[in-house]
Amino acid sequence: MQEAIAEGILSMNHRSEPCMRLVARTIQLCRQKLDIPADYTLFFASSATECWEIIAQSCLRRQAKVLHAYQGAFGEKWASYTQKLSQYAHKDLELTAQTFEKIPDLAGKAEVVCLTPSETSNGTALAYPILEKLLPTHALSALDVTSCLGGVRLPISKGDIWFASVQKCLGLPAGLAIGILSPRAVALAYEIGERSHYNSLTNILDNIQKFQTPYTPNVLGIYLLNKVMQQVPHIDTIDAQTHERAKDWYSFFENIPDCKPLACPDTRSSTVLCLESTPEKISALKQRALENNLIFGNGYDKWKENTYRIANFPALTSEEITAGKVFLEDYFCNNHTDFASNSVCKKI
Ligand SMILES: *Cc1c(COP(=O)(O)O)cnc(C)c1O
Repeated sequence: MQEAIAEGILSMNHRSEPCMRLVARTIQLCRQKLDIPADYTLFFASSATECWEIIAQSCLRRQAKVLHAYQGAFGEKWASYTQKLSQYAHKDLELTAQTFEKIPDLAGKAEVVCLTPSETSNGTALAYPILEKLLPTHALSALDVTSCLGGVRLPISKGDIWFASVQKCLGLPAGLAIGILSPRAVALAYEIGERSHYNSLTNILDNIQKFQTPYTPNVLGIYLLNKVMQQVPHIDTIDAQTHERAKDWYSFFENIPDCKPLACPDTRSSTVLCLESTPEKISALKQRALENNLIFGNGYDKWKENTYRIANFPALTSEEITAGKVFLEDYFCNNHTDFASNSVCKKI
């Protein structure tokens, strides 16, 4: 940030040459480090939530059928945004082990299929073999990868519209999102040609060809993304580390009494852990953690009281992870009652 101030980034005109060069370089770095195919188009928005709206307003033909298949609160919220913005019929589908099989059939009737590969609210993920099976070939796919882009390798070339805000796995301050579009997603946006909004996708695409944005973007955010992309290793290296750390975390919890992952083993996210315990234990845990300079994430939505969350994001250091484990071990092993968590796997 100090370098940004020194370089005059904070007062940069966003249509100036230096800013266009910054945007171009940042896109090029994201391509390299995140291994994004050369024929895919990158763009910037301000949040994942904005991307939900961009897709609903700019990527759906009139009366297009959309299939939202979700396994938690973020995916469900996205579906409700689409419903509000589009006056036509939608099909929503809550994902359970049983409904996985229905998706290919339903996707055949939809034009766009919306998935959340890592569901931040409950720590579940669509494992790659499942995700690849779900990704439609006829319909376009839209994927909210906010809590996994930059943390694990994603099959970008198999999907059409990918997006993520930067404050999760990319470890940056909030206020910026990255969108990644396949050639057929770009073609669809131009075919629909929706231009009624400040953030209509066609306006965004026209601008990004010149390394610009329709409105003044978060230039500092783009600069910081550039810096982070210079520093981080290739996604394959990060992916290996994330999976290794996730494996360690989950095996750690096998030996912790009274606190178990909410998700079943084959639907667990590698980037967000959601742990279940009793509401009393969790509220006391957070209090004690604060006293030890540690913050665990709150539970979300219907899991607010009986879960807490741990981010397995690349920016965390091994020392920070160890400090968390030492604390948790001490807390749960010395406050042990008999908490049985075995009903959950039937649901998630
Ligand atoms: C955090 C998160 C969001 C919301 O991100 P904003 O930047 O607040 O819009 C959306 N989807 C998922 C999966 C998330 O984890």
